[in-house]
Amino acid sequence: MTLRGVAASSGIAVGRAHVLPRPGRAPRRLVEDRDGEVGRLRRAIEESRADIEAAAAQLRVHGSDAALVLDAQLLMHGDEMLASAAAREIAEDGLNAEWAIEQVVARLRQPLEASSSHYFRERAQDVEQVGRHIRRHLRGEVEAPLPDGEVVLVAADLTPADVARILGSDRRAGVVGLVTESGSATSHTAIVARALRVPAVVGVAELLENVPVGAALLIDGFAGTVRVDVSAEDAERARERGERHRTLTLELVARADRPTTTTDDVAIAVRANLDLSSEAALARDHGARGVGLYRTEFLYLDRGAPPSEDEQLEVYRSVVQSTRGLVTFRAFDLGGDKLPKQERLPPAPNPALGLRGLRLALRRPEMMRAQMRAILRVAALGDVRLLLPLVTTLGEFREALEVMARCRAELHDAGVEYGVCPVGAMVEVPSAALIADRLAAEAAFLSVGTNDLVQYTLAVDRTHPDVTHLGQALDPAVLRLLAMVSDRALATPLGCCGDMAADPLALPVLLGLGYREISVPVPALPIVQEVVRRVAVAELETLAKASLEAHSASEVRRVVREHLGERLADLIGP
Ligand code: PEP
Ligand code: MG
Repeated sequence: MTLRGVAASSGIAVGRAHVLPRPGRAPRRLVEDRDGEVGRLRRAIEESRADIEAAAAQLRVHGSDAALVLDAQLLMHGDEMLASAAAREIAEDGLNAEWAIEQVVARLRQPLEASSSHYFRERAQDVEQVGRHIRRHLRGEVEAPLPDGEVVLVAADLTPADVARILGSDRRAGVVGLVTESGSATSHTAIVARALRVPAVVGVAELLENVPVGAALLIDGFAGTVRVDVSAEDAERARERGERHRTLTLELVARADRPTTTTDDVAIAVRANLDLSSEAALARDHGARGVGLYRTEFLYLDRGAPPSEDEQLEVYRSVVQSTRGLVTFRAFDLGGDKLPKQERLPPAPNPALGLRGLRLALRRPEMMRAQMRAILRVAALGDVRLLLPLVTTLGEFREALEVMARCRAELHDAGVEYGVCPVGAMVEVPSAALIADRLAAEAAFLSVGTNDLVQYTLAVDRTHPDVTHLGQALDPAVLRLLAMVSDRALATPLGCCGDMAADPLALPVLLGLGYREISVPVPALPIVQEVVRRVAVAELETLAKASLEAHSASEVRRVVREHLGERLADLIGP
């Protein structure tokens, strides 16, 4: 049986299922000693808090600022609303602490879950996870020891603290993969799994009903699938496939310093996409020639107020210092499914078409200015660019340039050091592709975000599991827009930072269409660099022409496979 979910952390893992039971409902009990029960509650909150703090410390040992994602849960532990509401239930109704905390969590969850925002729905999960941690301490529950051998953790939900604690400790030895019922690729649990480099698939419906304890599982963290009761032969084959991929990747990383030049001597800049600042050093060690996209919005999530200019400067400085080559800071792309806590936007029926990216930034001039000033200041220390997300019209791009000019003047007048910082536009809305010539005339560079360009061109919600398979970047309609942008960008540097560039079958088409700057997630760097070294731009131009005439994405794939399948065989897949 194959279960489908969301690929949250890449890699192949084979192991026996260690199934964590679905958390049960707390019993409702009357208590005699109400004060004593309140004391028990407060102690459990304290213990749970210490637990999460320890997990965050584990992550820091790993040099990962994924620890930041636990801070939201720590904040909730410190939140008097949670503790005093539960204490009131106990004091007024004489009910047990487990029941009280469950009631309060349910009340806090409800409005979050009902929100149309993906971001708030994910925060509902945080509240639930905090409640579960506290209840576990109330029950004095000791975790079942992990069985010997290689195991895959299977759970309805794993908190980021669980993941950090289990994988960040010595107990990690046997844990080769994770699967959960809840979660998405951007959930905190997924971010922590990626930071710790453990293959993970999340968002698998009815997981616990379908996976018996001890079943042989095959996790494909590339495809987002879980095979249950996989035969010993299939498991062995998958293990070999995963191992081959790992060995090849390690070999390529060891020789990452070789230039990324095509066989006909065209230099391609292969850069990294970062979600967390701690990934910068890894990107450099993987041979990235700079950062093509640093998604700064992750700094804004899960906190009461946006990061200050100085705080941003510190983080940005660390990225610049850890990077070889230029760093492209993408201005915060908030809104849509990424809403910071402090934003009080009314629920939007179509958040992807609402206040998002540059539109939202222009409505929050103080936030925008703080970020632009921090980026201008860090530009004094290295080669830095600013990339504006979700540009839709020339007017709004110009407006942002004006804000940037004002920030520069302010810094100048105040005698604060700042540097040269070219400003580029993301092309991720069809309107921007259609006016690429106009944008190219005023932007220092263009970077196509195919994740959104696909969403807006094909009308496929990128967060909707029922339709995501329809969002094919190789769809000829998308390719024609990409060709249009390339033709109209003329001499303006043009890149692609969408996930499409990380697909070894799609990358040759992008290169054939004229894209010379590529930015991909860190784990994809070795393969992408190697694809570049094995192809000739001249042949790819012919391939790109054929792709534009194809009738479907699958036809494009077939054409690319026919031309390059053999040469790239070890790089395609696993
Ligand atoms: C994109 O849309 O392709 C992109 C790179 O931006 P994000 O994935 O952050 O929306
Ligand atoms: Mg985008």
